[in-house]
Amino acid sequence: MTMSALDVIGDDLKVALPTGEPVRFVHLDYAASAPCVEAAAAAVADLLPRYGSVHRGAGVRSQASTLAYELARDVVAEFAGAGPEDHVIFTRNTTDALNLLARALPAGTTTLLFDGEHHANLLPWPNPRRLPAEGDPVEALRAALPGLTGPAVLTITGASNVTGELWPVRELADLAHAHGVRVIVDAAQLAPHRRISLTELGADYIAFSGHKLYAPFGAGVLAGRADWLDAAEPYLLGGGASASVGDLPGDRVWSTGPARHEGGTPNLPGAVALAAVCTALAEADRDALHRHEQDLLARLREGLRSVPEAVEVSIFGPDQPRVGIVSLALPGHDPALVADRLGKEHGIGVRAGQFCAHPLVRRLTGSAVAGSCGTSGTGLLRASFGLGSRAEDVDRFVTALAAVLRS
Ligand code: PLP
Repeated sequence: MTMSALDVIGDDLKVALPTGEPVRFVHLDYAASAPCVEAAAAAVADLLPRYGSVHRGAGVRSQASTLAYELARDVVAEFAGAGPEDHVIFTRNTTDALNLLARALPAGTTTLLFDGEHHANLLPWPNPRRLPAEGDPVEALRAALPGLTGPAVLTITGASNVTGELWPVRELADLAHAHGVRVIVDAAQLAPHRRISLTELGADYIAFSGHKLYAPFGAGVLAGRADWLDAAEPYLLGGGASASVGDLPGDRVWSTGPARHEGGTPNLPGAVALAAVCTALAEADRDALHRHEQDLLARLREGLRSVPEAVEVSIFGPDQPRVGIVSLALPGHDPALVADRLGKEHGIGVRAGQFCAHPLVRRLTGSAVAGSCGTSGTGLLRASFGLGSRAEDVDRFVTALAAVLRS
């Protein structure tokens, strides 16, 4: 059978139920790591026979590899809507990209952020001013903006990894820019589901991860304005980051451009795989993919009406636009135990816990179940999906969840 670029590899993975019966594994944990698609696997397979060092050799392998790496950068730049004033830097993942940027901010920068963020976008920032992830975020930001002195940034997630809800990035960005505040978007959960573009989002910087974008080969991206990045100390000191090194300690000239922050040998297969997915998504009918995902979301929420023991949590309310992620409070049940049973007894993979967003999950579980959420105290159960997900996956999840909660 010929595969197309966005077909999921391993879509028919079978697992055995306790009865010994084999069933198709239902993967509903895309928000943690999405499966690999054909485009990414094919790009890596195509690269490997030519694979060599990037930026470091004269031989044909090295030249082909350098070319492949820089072409990947161009493709990713286009995918992220980066312009001539921007750099596209390959990193390990979103966490790495945000840490890199946090260290590149000018001295004395203030960081505005909401406490609904994933820890990767909560912890790295200097002088953080945390705003509550409840009520109207635009009003909360408006109240926080006056009186800022020196450089300031707002860092905001595009889509919540807990509830899937979209944050009003454009509105927040316009308001921040009106006060001279630069805007950073954590697009780890947005990029797999929606078009991302620095210009359309109104962002100065964007970060995302290959492993959440169907390219599980370990590359991430930071794209955005070059000036602060070129002025900052390199993120990783070493080869590539240095243009020349003298005989005395401290006698060195740093590279400019992406190389300044990509010290060491880069992850070429990761970059090439990620670029292949970016190309495949750019060529796909994104509206059709979006409709399919929204249909699955509606089916899931409709199905969950028959499971009142599970309470969907939300930051902004049920009508907020969202990507294919739903988190459930399970009053009186331990979400970790429920997830374990879904895996072992029903062949369904979901995630339980606080999803590296502890402040938000504490707040959401508190309001959903008035302080009682099973033995784990504050955890949720999360189902998330994307390319290759099917209506039958959603139906199996709903049926299995009801069975587990009632037995
Ligand atoms: N930001 C968000 C919204 C996430 O969901 C995640 C991962 O779950 C991250 C950042 C961190 O991504 P990574 O683990 O790829 O660095």
